[in-house]
Formats: sequence, structure tokens, C-alpha cells
Amino acid sequence: MDEERRGVYPFCGSCTASSVAWRVTGGGGFGGRFYGHRDICEDCGSSVRTLYRTLLWVPLARSGQFRIIPTGGRTYVARKVIDRPTESREPVSAADPGLAADPSYRQAESYWEAKEPGQALPFYQAALERRETELPADDPATLQIRLRVAQGLLATGNYGRAIAWFELVTPQLVRVFGANHELTRAANEGATGARLMVGGPRSEASLLADIVAVDRAELPARDPQLLRDQAALGRALLAGGRIAEAIEALSAALVDAEDALGADHPDTAVYRAALRDTCQVGAARGKKRDLPAIESARRLLNDEAAPTDT
Ligand SMILES: [Zn+2]
Repeated sequence: MDEERRGVYPFCGSCTASSVAWRVTGGGGFGGRFYGHRDICEDCGSSVRTLYRTLLWVPLARSGQFRIIPTGGRTYVARKVIDRPTESREPVSAADPGLAADPSYRQAESYWEAKEPGQALPFYQAALERRETELPADDPATLQIRLRVAQGLLATGNYGRAIAWFELVTPQLVRVFGANHELTRAANEGATGARLMVGGPRSEASLLADIVAVDRAELPARDPQLLRDQAALGRALLAGGRIAEAIEALSAALVDAEDALGADHPDTAVYRAALRDTCQVGAARGKKRDLPAIESARRLLNDEAAPTDT
């Protein structure tokens, strides 16, 4: 896998971020057929096609937009495109009343503007902690502070924990602001920058394994930081092709997130999607030794049905 593309193989990072895993289902005399061919990606060669449900080759109903990479003959791999933010919440600025009243946030912003990210970081972390007790983790202003925390960690050389934050916040930014929003782009850039410093999935997995060990020694069980770092370890293992180990790390993060944060928490949703992606990649590779892990993860996900409608 090309290390800098870093998507879910064979899709590149930005195509992965703007789509979700999808499994083909069929039967009942109904089929499906892709029409159209747009937004060809220069990085991974995928293009966006519209799926119609068909009966005897007659298109009946539009069934969604998919990013497709042909894999020879009539075979292909597909991810379902997230067209636009599911909720059209407007980006907020620092003029957000809750934030403007928060002294930690004001202090953080003034250090940030003075190009002192190391000084700003603890104040952003304090502002974030307070905000997440009152507002959802994917509230637009909360997401902006989460992004700042990730950028602050990157700027201070905490590459592993920065990657963990970028991994968590990027899908949330895509969902709330859209794939092409400047905040989403900043998160993609930050993650790429951190990865260039770390130098590839193997060193990333080893760095994150060390970080998870420190988390386990120092933090309470199921602390959000431990979950985040463990999920990032899973993604790094996936990028290095270590499917069964990736599934183990992501399953642990998902189970603990469901317990500690709740099944509907925006972070839990990200870990669940990452585990689903990993199962899909593992199943596509079809290595026998990964199959037991994939099977048990699928039981955990309890999600055999693919989305068939938008
Ligand atoms: Zn792409």
C-alpha cells in the first residue's frame, strides 16, 4: 500500500474520508447497475457512479452514489459516497457565545495567534473538556477545538497522539462540515504531516503501541484518550496489512467506547466504521488466518446488511 495515500485500500485517504464501507447485497430478481462516471480521483483512480436498482436491466430506482474502482472484468470495489453533511450546521467562529465566555478558550486562542501552540495546547484541552460535558462531541464549535488540540499535539511533536485525534475528528468534520471544507482539509493535512514525521505504518503502529501501553499504565480503564489511541493503533495495523491485530485493537476500542461513551456517541460511531472498514479489507484479501477475527468482529458489529437506499 502506498503509505502516503493512507486510505482504505485501494481507495486514497480523501476518497475514504468522504465515503463509508459498503457491502453488495442482491437477490429477489433485483439487480443493480452503475450509471455515470464523474469526479475521477487522480490519487486512486476511483470515480463516482450512481447505482440504480434494476429489474431485468430496467433501471427502477436510484440507490445511491458510490465511489468505484474497477478490479478487472466485471468486478469492482465500491464505497458509498457521503454526498453532503447529514445536518447542515453552519460553521461557527470564535464568536460562538459559549466559547467567547470561556477564559481557557480565549487564552488558548491568544497563544495560538502568537504562534505558541505548546502554550495554547493545555488551554484548548481544558476548554474542550468543559465543552464536551455540555455539548455533543460533534457540535461544530467542539469539533473546531478538537482540531486545534490535534494541531497543537502535532506542532509540539506528539505525532502519535496527534494522528489519533486527526483520525477521530476527520470523519466527524466530513459529516458536519463536508469533505471539502477548510477544517476537513486542515485535518487531512495535519494527519499527512504527522505521518510524514513518523515515517510509515510500521513505525506508526509501533509508536502507537507504546502510547497505548503508557495510557494503560496511567489512565483509568476506558478513558477516552486510551480509546482514541487504541483505535489509531488499529488503523495503523490495518495500513500495515496486519488485519487480525487491527481487528483486535479496533474491537477493544469499540466495546469500551460503547460502555464508556454510549452506542450513539459520535466517537463510538467512528470506531465502529473503522472496524467495519477493516473487516471489509480483510474479507477482500481473504487470508485464511484473518478469517476468525473477521467473523468475530462481524458478530460484534451485528451488521450484516449493507445500506441499499439513501
Ligand atoms: Zn481517491
